[in-house]
Amino acid sequence: MKAFIKKHEYNYIRKRLYDLNNAFKYCVDTNIIEANKAYIQEKILHIFTNLSEEEKEMLDISKISEPLQIDKYLAELNEYVYGMPYITDMQINKLFKKEKKLKLPNPNAQDSKNVYLGWIDESTRKLFVAYNMNGKLIGMKCPITNHGSNNTHMCALCNHIGEENEVAFVSSLCKTDNTKEGAYKSIGFDICLDSEKCNERIVTIEKLEEILRNVNNIK
Ligand SMILES: [Zn+2]
Repeated sequence: MKAFIKKHEYNYIRKRLYDLNNAFKYCVDTNIIEANKAYIQEKILHIFTNLSEEEKEMLDISKISEPLQIDKYLAELNEYVYGMPYITDMQINKLFKKEKKLKLPNPNAQDSKNVYLGWIDESTRKLFVAYNMNGKLIGMKCPITNHGSNNTHMCALCNHIGEENEVAFVSSLCKTDNTKEGAYKSIGFDICLDSEKCNERIVTIEKLEEILRNVNNIK
């Protein structure tokens, strides 16, 4: 069986299984636990289309009957998870060719499975994002705006809530059809500064793709 679970789908399954873990822990009524498990099973299957019998079998959580089995199951499942394809420094340079002295991501950043590749150039306070959208590599650079406040922010991609040193407001310049002077527009959003952690939390790519489409003027 080939890898058939995308990284964000795996994150979703893990999140739902933590719910199940809580049900095991705090719920004494086995009927409620079973109902909970059936509900979670439905939720998990719902994010997939065209599963083979073998894949469906792999996603069958009815065999999980206690918390200790959850981590083991997740480790097994992780064998069938894939992230974005590996991208070379040359591809990154090409993606951000307008950047002078582009800082490349840490070579280890692609060792783990990623939904997107994100890294920060501390010297210019910019967060770079590279993502594979339907086989095409796209990116955005996001200058980090510090407000110096203690307000909390919520990451638009993974919904994590944190203070400014964890989740920061960024704004990204959008490409537009009208390239005449003054025709720029930018969009602002909150995003995790630690992309590695964000990649472990993100359960849906809708928002990420929406932002990237906006920035790159993809209709
Ligand atoms: Zn995040």
